[in-house]
Formats: sequence, C-alpha cells, structure tokens
Amino acid sequence: MIIMDMSAPVEKIKGIGPKTAELLHNVNLNTVGDLVYCLPRVYENYQTTTTISELRPGNVVIRGKISDLRTVRTSRRRLTLTEGVIRDETGAIRTVWFNQPYRAKQFDSKREYYFTGKYEFKNRRYVLTSPAATLVQDSEHEGSAASFQPIYSAKNTIKPQTFQKILQNLRPFFAKIPDLLPCDTDGPSFLKPGARAEALFCLHFPESPEDAEHGRQYLAYEELFELILAAKLNKQANQKLRSEPLKFDANPTREIVRSLPFQLTGAQRRATWDILQGLEKSIPMNRLLQGDVGSGKTIVAALAAAQATHQGHQVALLAPTAILAAQHYEGLSELFHKIEQQHSALKMPRVALLTGATRGKKQLKAQIKNGEIDFVIGTHALLTDDTNFKSLAFCIIDEQHRFGVQQRQKLLLKSPRDKAPHLLSMTATPIPRSLQLTVFGDLDVSILNELPAGRQPITTSILKEIDQKDQLYPAMRELLAKGQQIYWICQLIEDNANSDATPVKRQAKKLATVFTDSKIGVLHGKMKAAEKDQIMTDFAANKIQILVSTTVVEVGVNVPNANMIIIQDAEHYGLAQLHQLRGRVGRGDQPASCYLLTTGEGRPSRRLKEMERSTDGFYLAEVDLKLRGPGEIYGAMQHGDLNLQVANLSDTRLIALASHHAGEFAKHPERLREYPELASRIKKYQQITTLN
Ligand code: ADP
Ligand code: MG
Repeated sequence: MIIMDMSAPVEKIKGIGPKTAELLHNVNLNTVGDLVYCLPRVYENYQTTTTISELRPGNVVIRGKISDLRTVRTSRRRLTLTEGVIRDETGAIRTVWFNQPYRAKQFDSKREYYFTGKYEFKNRRYVLTSPAATLVQDSEHEGSAASFQPIYSAKNTIKPQTFQKILQNLRPFFAKIPDLLPCDTDGPSFLKPGARAEALFCLHFPESPEDAEHGRQYLAYEELFELILAAKLNKQANQKLRSEPLKFDANPTREIVRSLPFQLTGAQRRATWDILQGLEKSIPMNRLLQGDVGSGKTIVAALAAAQATHQGHQVALLAPTAILAAQHYEGLSELFHKIEQQHSALKMPRVALLTGATRGKKQLKAQIKNGEIDFVIGTHALLTDDTNFKSLAFCIIDEQHRFGVQQRQKLLLKSPRDKAPHLLSMTATPIPRSLQLTVFGDLDVSILNELPAGRQPITTSILKEIDQKDQLYPAMRELLAKGQQIYWICQLIEDNANSDATPVKRQAKKLATVFTDSKIGVLHGKMKAAEKDQIMTDFAANKIQILVSTTVVEVGVNVPNANMIIIQDAEHYGLAQLHQLRGRVGRGDQPASCYLLTTGEGRPSRRLKEMERSTDGFYLAEVDLKLRGPGEIYGAMQHGDLNLQVANLSDTRLIALASHHAGEFAKHPERLREYPELASRIKKYQQITTLN
C-alpha cells in the first residue's frame, strides 16, 4: 500500500482507474477522507427478516422474489422510476427505485433476494423505497459476518456494490487514520487515542449492530464537537468586530407605540428592549427573533429600524417573497406616514420597496446610495451588486430560514468596509433547543412566547376529500356569510402527469360552481409580479373572498379577516410547512379553522395527527425534528449548508459532553493551529451564523 493520508486523491487507491475516479469526482468524492466519511446508508441485518404479511412502516429486511419489473421515465427532472413487485409466501408488496434503471435488469425472477429498505406510505400507497438487494445464496456462502452488512446509497452512477469494493481496497488504510479531535484519556472510550480510526472502521466493516452503533457514537460526537466549537469561535470573532452604535432615543419608539391600534404584548416589549440595547453597542448584534406565526414580529423589527434611521443610518429588510416584501412595505410606510402627519417634527424612516418588479430601479438605487432612502424593504433583488448603501448599519432578515448563507453574506457585505452591520434574523420556525445549543450557539435569541391578546384558538380537522361536500362546504358558507375570507391551498398550478394532486386552476373552477356568490381569486408563483400584487391587494381588501393559491402564501402573509384555510392533498406537505400555512389564519380576533384534506387512502400520517393535536410551533418543531431529522428543519440546511450525517440532536447527553469539551478548547483558540484538519472542517460550519 502506498503511503496515504486523508487528503490523498482517490486516484491513489488501488483499483480506482480514471473512469471510476471520474464517477467519484462527479459526486464530490475527491479524497480518501471523502470516501471514509461516506457512510453506509443502512445495515442489512438478515437475522431480522420480516414476512410481508407482518410488515410495518420503517426500515425493513424482507426475503422474497421479485417480478413485474419495469422502468418508466417521468418528465419531471428527468427522473426514472423502476418498479416491481416483491413476493414471499405471505404476500406481495410494491417496490420502487429512483434513477436506478439498471435495477430492471438486475434480478432473476426465480431466485430469492434480501431486500433492505424503507417501507413507507408515498404517493398514496405503501411501497418499499429504493431497497438494497442481495442474492440469498451469496450472503449465506460468506458465512456469519455477512449476515450484517453495510449498504451504501447509490450515488448517481456509482453502484453500491462498486462502492463496497472500493472500501474493501481501502481497508488497510483505516488503521492509519489519525485522530481529529483532542483526546481525553479519562473520558468515554470514544475520546481515547485512536478513536476515530476505530469508529470509521466499525462503521464500514462491522461485525454486529453494536459495532456500527459504537462507530456512530464517536462520529456523532465529532460532528457535535465541530458544530459547537464553530459556534463558540464565531462568537469570539464577532466580539472583535466593530459596528455603528445606534443610540436609543425614546421619541420615535414612544410615538410608534402610541400610534398602534393595539398594546404590545409583554414578549414584544421585552424583545424590542433587547434589540434596542443590542443596537446601542459598538459590537455588532447578532440576534434571532423567534416567534410563532402571528406573534407580531414585524412591529418589533419596525421599532428597531426606526432607532437606526433616527440616528442617521440605513436599514435593509430582506423578505423571501415579493408578496411579503410588498406587505411589509405597505404596512410600515402607512404607519410611519401617519405618525409624521401628527408630529411633523419627528422624522420617520423614508421607506422604499425593492423587488424584481420594482420600476425605476436605477433611480431608486441612486437614492439608496446617496442616503435619500433610509429603510429599504426588498427581496433577493436588493442583493445585487449594484445596490449600494451610504451607511447600512442594520440588517433585518425576515423568515430567515428561507435564506442561505451566501445570501445573508451578500447582504451583510453591503455595510461600510470597516463596520459590520447589526443583524436581526426573524423566524417563525422555532429552533429546537438542541439546535440552539449547537448550530446557533453563538446567536442571542429573543422569543415571542405570547400571542397578542384576543386571539382565538385555531381548530384543525383532518377531512377526507369525499366528505367535503357534507362537512366542509357548510362551514365555508357559514364563514362567508359572516363576511370572512378563506384560503384554499393546492400543491400544483396546472395538471401534471406525474402527480394526481389537484391543481389551483382546476380547484378554482370547481369552487366557482359551488360558491356562486363569492369572488374567487387564483394566486401562484408563475404569475407576473403585478398580477400577484393585484390579487393580494384585492384579497386584503376583501374584494376576493376565496383565494385559491399555491404555497406562495406560505410565509408571512397577513390578512386578519381570513379565518379559514383548507389545505388540499395535505399529505404532500411537511409538518413545518403545514404549520406555516395554518399560521395564515387566526391572525385577528375571530376563531379560525384549518382543514387538512386527504384523499383518504390509508390512515392519516403522524404529521397530520400532530397538526390536529397542537397549534404550538415549538412542540411541532420538536416532533418534526424527530420525524425528519435536522436536515430539513432549519433553513441553512435546506440550502445544503449543513448536512448532519450522524448526530442525533435529541441526544442531550452527547450534546452536553461535546459542549463541555468544545468550551474548554475554545478557551485557547490558538490551539487550532495544531489541528489543521479540524480547523478546515469547522470553517464550513462557521459560515452558517457568522457576521463576517
Ligand atoms: P408574525 O410574527 O407572524 O410576523 P405579524 O407581525 O405579521 O406576525 O403580526 C400578525 C398580526 O398581528 C398583524 O396584523 C399585526 O398587526 C398584529 N399584531 C401584532 N402585535 C399585536 C398586538 N400586540 N396586539 C394585537 N395585534 C397585534
Ligand atoms: Mg412575519
């Protein structure tokens, strides 16, 4: 074996020729380190085979024959589906692979295979999704060790079997993998010298489930340690930055509060105070304002913005959709305008809207540059290089989980070179406590844990589509008769060959025949910006009573007179998304309701049942974390910035341990120089929440 290290290119590995190397590069596996960290997707444990009649959803191993194989090409994203039927003596199930057309020719219909994969309810039926398959005889010839085997995912064109071979060739190298983290000889076994080498070996070449679990423990610790250390180092680095201190002046705050048609909640007062104090410092604020849907984050942001502009500096508010940016712009300019009329001496922010559809961008950008505009509300459109500020001292990101690291960085870089802006991120997607300790450990957090007074509960019901005529339409009529409004959410815009979900356009036509006295509007992402604005304005003014929309209204939209939301094909959505959608109603002082329509095949999922049970965003986020894992929960990860492989963020004991050790390490950050591999790995995490 040639001497190798983790950074050696894959070409150096025995048996990898230029062709295989290219395949590996295509999926971003470039070094030995990339390969050894490419962990098995599951382990095949032939001792735990289930018969088909006893199958339950989850990870399963079954033994059977496969037939009726066929591959179909879908038009969407050039996806191919290979389907088949697996049978044993007790029954038959469907199986499907995505983009693995070779599966159609892989099997001998007369022979038995072990199939290992996830049995789940997908697209309205139960299927075994992308199972790994091993010929029964093969595995039995290889003796006992083969009864527990790692299964790698097919990465595009690399077959799992090929991958397995590559790792076999790497096997001798594993013993030479150096430690990554500082060792702790008094700590648990996975902190002892040689721990990393042993863990990775156990994960790729386990002899038993315990081996794999042992390896997982170490790697989970490693991941947590890196995350937490990154957060701590970020915090230290942010302390060294300088920002514009924006001194508190009671006047604008008092007048804005006075002019509101409501009293601020205690939570809003506390959060506002936290923020106003943070803005006074010459160290940049990096604060997250977390509050469930409808808790009133916008006004808190507005109060903070007014403090910055009052001190002669500029503020940018970034929103994820043009609809939301326009809503903020209209609401806030009206508020500021009203105050200025009453107190001509008090200067309120001069607000402008900057979205893709904004006319006269050039002139507007000139005004932003020369400081005539001091509060810019916009979408991604304000991130372009030609948007420059005179003195951007404060950035607000609404629905921050919708943005990636790079977008945030772009915004922050618009401040003067020697000053970092203060940053307020806002989100309704609560960060579960475990993520707060790890990924977001360097952020200050304010929580709006109190809904405005007078809010009524939202009732949620799961309803089968076939029952809508009897159980839903009467409720809709009753609500419309009271002069209130309804959202109807569909997944698609138009009919689509790959999905049987009901599209917006078809549903709107149908409702028009049922609710002949109501005006029905259609809203979706492919409409021109001006059309969208018009529809939203009409809906806000109650010129439209039923708004049939795609999820473009998912975040932020605020029409307090809309008190019913119907989510069609509800099984298609994730829990966080359902909660956000439901948050569009119950924003006034009337009771509200949410209907989750299903086609009624099979039992409703856990997600829908949890929605019925709770309206508490914090509780639902914890459930979501358990059901889906952290990868989907928080926005940064949706953008692929953070991809946790092994750490289970509900493992509080491991988090506490990693937090302790990372804290010790962070006391002497210069030590990182002795750990170059660690240093380069945590850079990736550091970008997630840093200000520079
Ligand atoms: P979110 O936290 O979801 O962004 P918004 O800021 O859009 O919530 O506020 C939702 C609605 O509640 C708005 O109509 C807003 O005017 C109203 N609101 C905000 N604070 C209060 C309050 N303290 N009392 C009554 N209504 C409030
Ligand atoms: Mg909002």
